[in-house]
Amino acid sequence: MNNKQSNKESARRTVRKVLSLTHKLIPGYITFLLIVKMMAAAQPFIQIYFSSLILDGLLRLDSFDSIFRNVLIMIGLDSLLVLIRWRLEGINWVKKHELTQKINKMLTDKTMEFDFDILEKHETLDTLKKAKDGITTTGDIRSFCDNLAGIIEKLTTIVYSVVLLIPLFIPKVLEETAGLSSLCVFLNQWYSIFIMILVLAIHVFVSYETNKKSSLLQMQFFEKNVSYNRYFSYWFDLIFNYSIGKYIRLYKMQKLMIKKVQETNDNLEKEGVAWINKDIKISFIPFLSQAFMQFVSYSYVGLKAVFSLISAGKCLMYVSSYTRLVESITGISNNFVQIKMESRYLAFFYDYMEIKNKRYDGTIPTEKRDDNKFEIEFRNVSFRYANTEKYALRHVNQKITLGSKNAVVGKNGAGKTTFIKLLCRLYEPTEGQILLNGVDIRYYDYEEYAKLFAVVFQDFNLFSFPLGENVASGIEYNRERAIKCLEQAGFKERFEKLEKGLDTPLYQYEDENGVEISGGEAQKIAIARTLYKDAPFVIMDEPTSALDPVAEYEIYQSFDKMVEGKTSIYISHRMSSCRFCDNILVFDEGQIVEQGSHDKLMSNGGLYSELWNAQAQYYA
Ligand code: ADP
Repeated sequence: MNNKQSNKESARRTVRKVLSLTHKLIPGYITFLLIVKMMAAAQPFIQIYFSSLILDGLLRLDSFDSIFRNVLIMIGLDSLLVLIRWRLEGINWVKKHELTQKINKMLTDKTMEFDFDILEKHETLDTLKKAKDGITTTGDIRSFCDNLAGIIEKLTTIVYSVVLLIPLFIPKVLEETAGLSSLCVFLNQWYSIFIMILVLAIHVFVSYETNKKSSLLQMQFFEKNVSYNRYFSYWFDLIFNYSIGKYIRLYKMQKLMIKKVQETNDNLEKEGVAWINKDIKISFIPFLSQAFMQFVSYSYVGLKAVFSLISAGKCLMYVSSYTRLVESITGISNNFVQIKMESRYLAFFYDYMEIKNKRYDGTIPTEKRDDNKFEIEFRNVSFRYANTEKYALRHVNQKITLGSKNAVVGKNGAGKTTFIKLLCRLYEPTEGQILLNGVDIRYYDYEEYAKLFAVVFQDFNLFSFPLGENVASGIEYNRERAIKCLEQAGFKERFEKLEKGLDTPLYQYEDENGVEISGGEAQKIAIARTLYKDAPFVIMDEPTSALDPVAEYEIYQSFDKMVEGKTSIYISHRMSSCRFCDNILVFDEGQIVEQGSHDKLMSNGGLYSELWNAQAQYYA
């Protein structure tokens, strides 16, 4: 199969998929479109048909009553159809909107389901961007529906026009043929209609070929557009993100930002102008063929009227029906081209939906243990991030015993965060195994396993939701417990000043009355979120980095109480905070090079004491 054929085949496949998805998401929508558009197509023909009757009536000097009856029927039917269409188009708008919402939801659900390492990949994010553009902007599922509706409407128009044009084939029975011009005799033969069919065929052929070229140009332009759109949404995200706004202002990046957007805009404009210029040149040809076709066909019908082979009213009806027929046949190819183009973008949506998680997901439930008797063991674990050569963890063998307080220390890039991410099963070990109570963690049901951990990562995120929902990570929650956790995390004083308490919206993305909080306050809320989860393992990666010394001291004072009966792991750069831990793991270049209590490690005189002394000298 060559490239062109395979493009066609994949466009057809996507169209079939979109149609069946549309049917699944909004059952009956396609039938609904069919009815609405068949009705819409009928409307002009009511006017065409009745105007011809009225005109003939006037020329025949029919009675006022009979002419007036036709006028009333025409206005009545037309108004009725306008009313019905107005109502149905409203419903159509709602259904199209609902369809977009449902498809957007599929995209969101899929994104939520992804394994972390898949979501983190550049290719996944790129496909997501294209998929989002595919259903909302560039391709747009709604415009796909409009083009589908356009095809239905035009096909129906073709049927109606042909039905009205059929009598034009039928020769008039002439009582007297002597003395008639040979042109009149020829026009009265049924095969003379081939003149109309011939000019129509020429025009349709020319329009189709031009349309194909024009759409190719358009497609090339839109394909380049995908990357421009990506740039634009990236820059606009930056410009309209008010928390980034302070950097832009402080580093005086306004000019740089505007220049970057301008550059992209200029490039896009240049491409756009080049495309339009080429398009104008080729679209001139169908104008010529249309003028030629109109001249011939109008002359044909006009002459038939002049020779009294048809009435004036019928002449009007045939000309109007023929015009509609031509418009529909040429217009329909445009709808097909648009659908083909949109299917290229909608294909990205399917590419995204078809990305599969690779993680082995077990089914064993974790034991529900009130005594929190969970023990973790890293058995010869090594790990390398995708697309990297260097191992972030190498041959890690470590048991984390029940109820122990552990600290993880080491220089930047030593592998501390990777160790935690593997423990939380965000990634799978490249080599070796991690065991929970003696069973490989991959065999546990992931959701159950994830419930065992309450984690604050360095780049913790709070959401622009009410405070209570942030703490509880849910809409329905125990308010008393949420307040208690906030107090334990040192947020009591600030909480008392919040008029709406737990219902205070954070940040101003969702609610304009949202509250701005400082980095330290955000960290306290993140700690409260960890406490609220009440999981057997509490993991905190740099939990106090944004806190002032007093708050930090207070938090460490109450940590013992917070994590009572649980197993805790802290990653911290502040060596002093490790002192209260039973076991300190010292990481270096992906390996655990030392471990033990503070006193033991200090007496070893190894890396730990080096790090400790390096920090202590500033305090001294
Ligand atoms: P630490 O937490 O001790 O500062 P990390 O565990 O974050 O160190 O990183 C260990 C190593 O893995 C570093 O060399 C780092 O550059 C690399 N690394 C971390 N995250 C990624 C990632 N997502 N992709 C590729 N390499 C990574």
